[in-house]
Amino acid sequence: MLEDKFGRRFHYLRLSITDVCNFRCTYCLPDGYQCSGDRDFLSQEEIAVLVNAFAGLGTSKIRITGGEPSLRKDLPQIIEQCANTPGIEKVAITSNGFKLPQMVQSWADAGLTALNISMDSLDPRHFHAITGHNKLETVLQGIDMALELGIQVKINSVLLKPYSDTMLSTALDWLRDKPVTLRMIELMQTGDNQPFFNDNHISGQPIKQRLLEQGWGQILRDKSAGPAQEFSHPDYNGRIGLIMPYSKDFCKSCNRLRVSSRGKLHLCLFAEQGLDLRPLLQEGNIDALQQELVALLGQKEASHWLDKGYTGATQHLAMLGG
Ligand code: SAM
Repeated sequence: MLEDKFGRRFHYLRLSITDVCNFRCTYCLPDGYQCSGDRDFLSQEEIAVLVNAFAGLGTSKIRITGGEPSLRKDLPQIIEQCANTPGIEKVAITSNGFKLPQMVQSWADAGLTALNISMDSLDPRHFHAITGHNKLETVLQGIDMALELGIQVKINSVLLKPYSDTMLSTALDWLRDKPVTLRMIELMQTGDNQPFFNDNHISGQPIKQRLLEQGWGQILRDKSAGPAQEFSHPDYNGRIGLIMPYSKDFCKSCNRLRVSSRGKLHLCLFAEQGLDLRPLLQEGNIDALQQELVALLGQKEASHWLDKGYTGATQHLAMLGG
């Protein structure tokens, strides 16, 4: 098992397979994806080496992310490869959902077990204003299809000051019948979004307070569960989650490592730099790669230091997948 000097165990890998994204979310890529250099993303062969090495070190869950992972035509093959790797029990995707109705059956057939869909508003006008796309209906239709296929669905909604009240009330209505977890994520500051962050960031604490006052109870999660706080209510099929990266001790439950679409290991979303694994991935030497991963983990810091305004090398989260 991969374990760092603070006793945190890492059974979860977030693997970005592209940094290209077709959405223009106001907090991430407001001017759309800007092509920087070649699109030399990890090949299926390199991904197989990487996933085998991580699985051999105790990784049991892989989340495929991006950019927008569904822009890669070989996504079903990548899911299948991950799902067929001994030791990998859960294969998840984080997606904006624009291709969900078309693709979700093929992802399920390939072995997908869980899906995180980014949906920052349930109001079509707000959704359009935030993402630059009029796709809320498509995303909602895809979510229903995924649920019918037995895929576990979580929704990611970034908390943005102008929309948060509407979002909470519409989300609560929606969750009455939908067996999904909707996770409200505090906006994080990145290298590119500082003025936007200053104008739009709000804390999740008042929402937590409102939920508790309205009869929602915090669910006790096991130690390996990661930093989200989750709440349930007897009258609701769905759950609410809160991800508050600025709260005290957020990083104490960190259980994930990240690899970029160009094969760099990021020990934290806001690390100063990615550590290049590509030569070892191309060599295909799994033992050597495992030794390197164990050695590099020694550099993982206790915290992301976001509260000090530190954003490391992360210009925006499409670089790495959130
Ligand atoms: N394209 C995919 C998607 O839309 O889910 C995967 C990549 S996207 C960068 C991953 C997640 O990061 C999304 O849920 C997005 O809302 C979130 N995200 C991006 N920038 C963020 C920021 N500055 N603060 C908080 N969440 C952010």
